[in-house]
Amino acid sequence: MQVAVRHLGKGAVFRFHCHRQLPCFNACCGNLSQALTPYDILRLKNHLHLSSGEFLRRYTLIRTGPATGLPIVSLRFDMHNGGLCPFVGAKGCKVYPDRPGSCRLYPLARGASFKSGAKPEEHWALIREPHCLGHQATKVQTIEQWVADQELEDYIYFNDLMLDILRLQNKLGRKPMAGQQRDDFISTLYDLDNFRAKANSCPWPGEFDFETRLGKAKSNDNALLELALDWVKLVMGGMDHEP
Ligand code: SF4
Ligand code: SF4
Repeated sequence: MQVAVRHLGKGAVFRFHCHRQLPCFNACCGNLSQALTPYDILRLKNHLHLSSGEFLRRYTLIRTGPATGLPIVSLRFDMHNGGLCPFVGAKGCKVYPDRPGSCRLYPLARGASFKSGAKPEEHWALIREPHCLGHQATKVQTIEQWVADQELEDYIYFNDLMLDILRLQNKLGRKPMAGQQRDDFISTLYDLDNFRAKANSCPWPGEFDFETRLGKAKSNDNALLELALDWVKLVMGGMDHEP
């Protein structure tokens, strides 16, 4: 059986249940090409009590996305250990409460398109891989139930803010980011501890109420990430672009 992808319309239900008693338990936690979003890294580095810089050094690889020209930060799998995820253990995921959004989403895939205005139109699909036995379950759920069960709301929120940056890059038709611009993009969005330190010591433009937001971001990581995302958009030159 090959990988099958089935479109799921609004209100669709799907049959799936993943649990420890399945013979395939942990079979999906290796040999992946798993991109991490800035929000994934924020959650993971806090879970591991690491600085964002240390997390990036220990656990990630950075390359340039061929389609967008933007840096892509991926989880570095352990090639000395069968290509396993660095966070998988005999009892399952060792970072489960703060696992990445893609791990929560699976076996679903989500796309978003933006026609006009702020709210994206969502597109959902069910991925069925031969090794994954969760599809044999009798448990049935809606997409909305899966999103709630997997606590995906914040992941989706920040994912869509990142999509805004991808859209901006496409709209501007920019070449692949390189040099200082690439370093700044990574250190602002993915190395949030670095961004916080820098933000506290540099003068800010008057626009977008950055000073007030920075005050809130001192004790609120999500607010800090929102600020970083807006800052990157401002630097890319399109803060008030049309959708
Ligand atoms: S983060 Fe956890 S759920 Fe995701 S691939 Fe690694 S071990 Fe599996
Ligand atoms: S049911 Fe699928 S998602 Fe769950 S452990 Fe098995 S392969 Fe992974």
